[in-house]
Amino acid sequence: MSDLAFQRCVHPHCGTTVDLADTAFRCPKCGGLLDVAYDWDRLPVPKSLKHFESKWANRTHPLDFSGVWRFRDLFPFAADDKVMTIGEGQTLCQRADAVAAYCGMKPGTTFLQYEGMNPSGSFKDNGMTAAFTHAATVGARRAACASTGNTSASLAIYCAASQMMRAVIFIGSGKISYGKLSQALEHGALTVQIAGDFDDALRRVQEVSRQLGIYLVNSVNPFRLEGQKSIMFRVLEALRWEVPDWILVPGGNLGNCSAFGKAFIELTELGLIPRPPRIAVINAAGADTLYQLFEKNGVRWNGGRPDDRKIGVYMKYLDDADKRADTLASAIEINRPVNLPKALRALDRCGGVVREVTDGEILDAKAKIGAGGLGCEPASAASVAGLLKLVREGVIDPGERAVCILTGHVLKDPDATVAYHSADPKAFADKLGKRGVRRASFANRAVQVPNDLSEIVKAIELYA
Ligand SMILES: *Cc1c(COP(=O)(O)O)cnc(C)c1O
Ligand SMILES: [Zn+2]
Repeated sequence: MSDLAFQRCVHPHCGTTVDLADTAFRCPKCGGLLDVAYDWDRLPVPKSLKHFESKWANRTHPLDFSGVWRFRDLFPFAADDKVMTIGEGQTLCQRADAVAAYCGMKPGTTFLQYEGMNPSGSFKDNGMTAAFTHAATVGARRAACASTGNTSASLAIYCAASQMMRAVIFIGSGKISYGKLSQALEHGALTVQIAGDFDDALRRVQEVSRQLGIYLVNSVNPFRLEGQKSIMFRVLEALRWEVPDWILVPGGNLGNCSAFGKAFIELTELGLIPRPPRIAVINAAGADTLYQLFEKNGVRWNGGRPDDRKIGVYMKYLDDADKRADTLASAIEINRPVNLPKALRALDRCGGVVREVTDGEILDAKAKIGAGGLGCEPASAASVAGLLKLVREGVIDPGERAVCILTGHVLKDPDATVAYHSADPKAFADKLGKRGVRRASFANRAVQVPNDLSEIVKAIELYA
């Protein structure tokens, strides 16, 4: 299969190709990111996306059961017998009228793609199964990542389930939520906590992996992004193969938006959809590098030659001011997004926009998502906070169809949820107030009652 799939520099003027088995994940010529690329002319491409419906009937086959691998015709880099799947991608795309109302959208227009249903509780499993499959094909014995939490939880679960590899995870100190840390520990990952933040951890893990020959599963790994394309295939499937007007996604390391962009570029070029949807990437205001570069400094993909000088100036400003990413949405608390060029390409090809939302806006949106019947962690709610903002700005029309990606499960970060709903002003101030959140507009406070039947009855009659 190797000459039908290969790796290729994302910058078209370079276009250097690299063997499928290479694990450096950097262009040897220009240092740029790599894509997984395919010789589509020599591969069997389905005539229509409806082709994938037939896979449902075959779901006793583990690859067709997987919500990722049943679309493997659209990322054919691995032989079937090498695929490592744990049944990821059984996620749902739910019509969300309560959330639509909150955002000023019309009923029936707004959908939540809930990736919290994955085995490790976040969308990361979509990519991990693909990276893990590649790692297995190259015979890796150890795999490493730096993580704000969910990548490590996902890596740990795949290592544990397959018993094929040892997980080595790097986390920054003090930032990771307990839900995520507990998963890494429970599934037996070697957990290395370094004194620094995510950006520091990511830099170190790349050095260490190179030195020790450990397989790297951070989203610089292009195979992960191939698996994450399937999130969009499932969205299209849920919408009966109709392309929505908007996809809204939180932006951290920008792997998701890059993967989504690549999926839509390929589907359009293969003639399987008429046009890509527009993509809105939503940053947290405390970690808004993409917003600053794209919206404030006019940095564009520019045919594969983004303005490196402008990007360099901004990164130097971050360094000089020692400006650290700072948001309660820990999964997107990233100031040096590794997939920046691919994200710019996605924005270019999908008529993209970028917005930033405050932690207060994120938590309010999160509470509304929860009240509407799906739970997510703070970072995920940036997508809905972004929808509200873009509707208010008039960028998104209330009648357009919008899909917000809920990237992770509500139980990943219960501290944030409890602090938001807490009646205790000190708990609120400690966790949220000091991060600039002024109030919890939709707090659902616990009611304090004496241990007395008539008082309890009175309280229930009063509140419910
Ligand atoms: C990793 C993660 C993100 C950020 O995704 P990127 O692909 O890095 O932009 C957002 N939300 C959650 C829950 C995550 O785990
Ligand atoms: Zn190159």
